[in-house]
Amino acid sequence: SNQTRLKWDKAPCRFCGTGCSVNVATMDGKVVATHGDIKSPVNKGLNCIKGYFLSKIMYGKDRLISPMLRMKNGKFSKDGDFEPISWEQAFDIMAEKAKQTLKDKGPTAIGMFGSGQWTVMEGYAAVKLMKAGFRSNNIDPNARHCMASAVGGFMRTFGIDEPMGCYDDIEATDAMVLWGSNMSEMHPILWTRITDRRLSAPHVKVAVLSTYTHRSFDLADNGMIFTPQTDLAILNFIANYIIQNKKVNFDFVNKHTNFRLGNTDIGYGLRPEHPLEKKAKNADKAGGSKKINFKQYAKFVSQYSAESVSKLSGVSVKKLNELAELYADPNKKVCSFWTMGFNQHTRGVWANNLIYNIHLLTGKISTPGNSPFSLTGQPSACGTAREVGTFSHRLPADMVVANPKHRKKAEKIWGLPDGTIPPKPGYHAVLQNRMLKDGKLNFYWVQCNNNMQAAANIAQEAFPGYRNPNNFIVVSDPYPTVTAQAADLVLPTAMWVEKEGAYGNAERRTQSWYQMVNAPGEARSDLWQLVEFSKRFTTDEVWSKDLLDKKPKLKGKTLFEVLFKDSDVGKFPLSEVPEERLNQESRDFGFYIQKGLFEEYAQFGRGKAHDLAPYDRYHQERGLRWPVVDGKETLWRFKEGSDPYVKPGADFEFYGKPDGRAIIFALPYEPAPESPDEEYDLWLSTGRVIEHWHTGSMTQRVPELYKAMPDALVYMHPDDAKKRGMRRGDLVKISSRRGSVQTRIETRGRNQVPVGLVFMPFFDASRLVNKLTLDATDPLSKETDYKKCAVKIERV
Ligand code: SF4
Repeated sequence: SNQTRLKWDKAPCRFCGTGCSVNVATMDGKVVATHGDIKSPVNKGLNCIKGYFLSKIMYGKDRLISPMLRMKNGKFSKDGDFEPISWEQAFDIMAEKAKQTLKDKGPTAIGMFGSGQWTVMEGYAAVKLMKAGFRSNNIDPNARHCMASAVGGFMRTFGIDEPMGCYDDIEATDAMVLWGSNMSEMHPILWTRITDRRLSAPHVKVAVLSTYTHRSFDLADNGMIFTPQTDLAILNFIANYIIQNKKVNFDFVNKHTNFRLGNTDIGYGLRPEHPLEKKAKNADKAGGSKKINFKQYAKFVSQYSAESVSKLSGVSVKKLNELAELYADPNKKVCSFWTMGFNQHTRGVWANNLIYNIHLLTGKISTPGNSPFSLTGQPSACGTAREVGTFSHRLPADMVVANPKHRKKAEKIWGLPDGTIPPKPGYHAVLQNRMLKDGKLNFYWVQCNNNMQAAANIAQEAFPGYRNPNNFIVVSDPYPTVTAQAADLVLPTAMWVEKEGAYGNAERRTQSWYQMVNAPGEARSDLWQLVEFSKRFTTDEVWSKDLLDKKPKLKGKTLFEVLFKDSDVGKFPLSEVPEERLNQESRDFGFYIQKGLFEEYAQFGRGKAHDLAPYDRYHQERGLRWPVVDGKETLWRFKEGSDPYVKPGADFEFYGKPDGRAIIFALPYEPAPESPDEEYDLWLSTGRVIEHWHTGSMTQRVPELYKAMPDALVYMHPDDAKKRGMRRGDLVKISSRRGSVQTRIETRGRNQVPVGLVFMPFFDASRLVNKLTLDATDPLSKETDYKKCAVKIERV
């Protein structure tokens, strides 16, 4: 009967960074059902609406099943139509274009754009292939649009990436503050836990700050709407309140922190000739990052009084004081949560630093219930995008390409000659689009993301680069996304449980899964594509003679042999995989490649406070939070007794910094690069909805989710609509200085926007709101600000 053929297994959810575990049922080679995993400490058997429909994401009618190349008269042509070809033909043309690019312009004209949806092994293989194989650092993940500011914040304040706390903080805390985050829609399972805590412990308080009212306000004891960008001033006001009310925890501050003046780089990351960029560069600002003392810091934040910040932000003095008191009260444990509201900000790194300031001033950090917690949007934003070093400036385990010692360490683990990895950071996400447009990046491979829908200012800065006749663009995806449609070659790609993999969630939890079903048609995983492609190149073709002379035995070998098969990646035989678990990639390459990649990568972090458990253990567990030392996971980092890396007697130790002290930064409020004026008179904020995951390329193909939220509407205040002679349901044109889109007005429902601001989500491929957004980035993290630009709205 069907019952006997139904097989259940476990996997992390394919969507958000919460990292819920699901049980997956397969039958006759297809996924037929999923449900929340009762054994998971993250979701305890629950899923959100997206998680409940996971079984349907792979079965959209337009799933890609063979490679497709733009062709005319039987040959590749940039303006041809897509025609199916074989993998052999696909790799032929890719290799031809890559080799030509290397010959004409060298490695800096080769680039790759990946994501926090790559498995840990895929991201690691991509880094190795790009940074060592092709010797190009032009690889970046779409996490640049998402988590780069959080990384910058962690590295500046603590010298080591990722949260010190974990989800267990929720059940231990007295107060939770959401900074620009709508967790009820973006992290629904964590929101369930927050709701449970708030409703079952009456003393617990919830504060929510945003630029408009959303569903998370339903639970708020103190809901605050602030003017875009003024979060920087509110954060400084809280620090000032703590000092003025003598609530600084000097015992903690004196032992474990240093103070620095931190306003350094100037600019908005726009093209140098952009008028806003010119204005920023001419601004008169104090530079440098120098050491200061507590008194100087106190003087710096004293300018942020309740009254002045209330005037700037629009939040009442009463509400501001109430918020600050949550942090200041020594008897209250506090968790702060944030995601894109802080990170997608021209001063995203500063916003991250400023929230840490508050937790450090009060010593409310690294103990159960006291947690500044940076959430993530993608399932492996932490595990892959950050930890394996897919950023253009990074290497695995928080190392960077610019540091000679770090490069040497990577080259040693990889068994490659000194000098293989180039020292200069590659192009970051926004710069990649500009370099494509300007014809400086000519061979470009996109995997696991939909940047033509998700990048800012797409019509002016992204699309032209893809269609530049000098460039060859390859896109790997399960579906014909907007990005795939703009490519020259599309590779059909396996997804989720059609391959074996591992993800790392927001609380440092690494989770793995086995391949459960085969992908349809000719679709193959990103990992298979990367490794198979590496067979097309020999070291003599891609490396200089000088480099090869340092290790003559590598001469004439393929990149497949050097980077994968003959390195530590190839050392686990197929006999290591339980027979019924043998996955497609391992079968094709002849060794247990996922384990090999994972174990080689783990060498970077073991003994460096990023320790991962042996790979096989992850198949037994519902994930483990690193560092995993002596088989034990770590819940709170930097705290003696919880973190094995803290020296006995230290109490707390921020060991990412040489002196073990975290930094409290004096950083000012700074206005947004673009704000409403007479012509473009409204703020635009973009974001997500609970029904769809990011650009909707998976969830829009689930009929139930599509029907629940088919179109992206623009949320507008009724008074703003009335003033323009418009009503709910009217079709309107929204324009910025960069482009325009049409959609209908919504004045009711889940989002109540204030006068002067509109909100439109970005999941809808037929209404590309990112034609409007400004490609301004944080000068430190290079992360784009999607939360504010100026638009106007007219009737169509
Ligand atoms: Fe959990 Fe996020 Fe998946 Fe929802 S989308 S089930 S919250 S991991």
